Amino acid sequence: MATSGKLASFRLPPLPTVSELVKLYNLRAEKQLSQNFLLDLRLTDKIVRQAGNLKGTHVCEVGPGPGGLTRSILNAGAADLLVVEKDSRFIPGLKLLSEAAPRRLRIVHGDILTYRMDSAFPVKISRPWEEDPPKLNIIGNLPFSVSTPLIIKWLEQVANRSGPFSYGRTQLTLTFQKEVAERLTASTSSRQRSRLSIMSQYLCTVHSCFTIPGKAFVPKPEPQIQQPFKLVEKVVRNIFQFRRKHFYKGLEKLFPEACRVELTHEMIARADLDPTLRPTELKITQFRALCDAYAHLCSLDPSLVNYEHREELRQNKQGVICTRLFCL
Ligand code: SAM
Repeated sequence: MATSGKLASFRLPPLPTVSELVKLYNLRAEKQLSQNFLLDLRLTDKIVRQAGNLKGTHVCEVGPGPGGLTRSILNAGAADLLVVEKDSRFIPGLKLLSEAAPRRLRIVHGDILTYRMDSAFPVKISRPWEEDPPKLNIIGNLPFSVSTPLIIKWLEQVANRSGPFSYGRTQLTLTFQKEVAERLTASTSSRQRSRLSIMSQYLCTVHSCFTIPGKAFVPKPEPQIQQPFKLVEKVVRNIFQFRRKHFYKGLEKLFPEACRVELTHEMIARADLDPTLRPTELKITQFRALCDAYAHLCSLDPSLVNYEHREELRQNKQGVICTRLFCL
């Protein structure tokens, strides 16, 4: 009973729900900032529980957004929660939370990729590397667009014992896109084993805790290009084969010679693009328009689906060799 009494003292006073806040401040999710919110407090509590006992600890939350995880971290008893949020629209809602949890929530309106965490917490929490971790946790439902650069940056800081790791072996509890999480935790010989697996596992012990279903996010995360992976891969591969040239040079190679000029022209017109852009200058939305246009052309002529320029070249080459053989 005593324990539950203590726990109750951590709970926040009544506040508008996270969904009400989203409506109140008209917080439409911005795709560019990879915003997909977790509004179910039972789920955010479950994520926070994975970090262990937070009572009296320091926490840095990455991208608090409308503050679902933030509430769970405060309810779990964190003494000092620092949140770093890039989008100014969320700051008023976070200030409301900060008033409800006096002196426990610090709000930084900034970019986690450049924020200096090494001076954000008191030096006295530092623990020698060989000892137990400091009472500092990093928690976040990571913005998808920054999760990979951020984890690479943090891994380098683990190696250098800098940034959040200047305090010791600071623990991280993070959500990742399923494919990234699988690569981070992939064991030897598994299909997902990649550079990221080695880079993370040579420095950290990585555990996969549980899978959050897509439907738990508002809005549900969706790929920015709604076409089959194989089609997207083919379009992107062809465009990038001449990365320094105008993108239409690679695009042309999606089509057999007989209709190459005409269909390339049609695809660019449908996607409404300037053909002199270079592959590296194309935005995801422009790749989406190109993939949609290519899917449309494939629906009109299904033989395009299996057309591969390289294959054609290889066969032509074989043809040339055969001819020579014949001549000899
Ligand atoms: N934590 C909230 C939740 O679970 O509902 C929001 C998660 S949403 C996937 C990612 C959040 O990170 C958004 O609030 C977005 O504005 C923020 N964000 C995106 N890029 C950021 C960056 N570079 N630095 C800090 N916050 C960022």
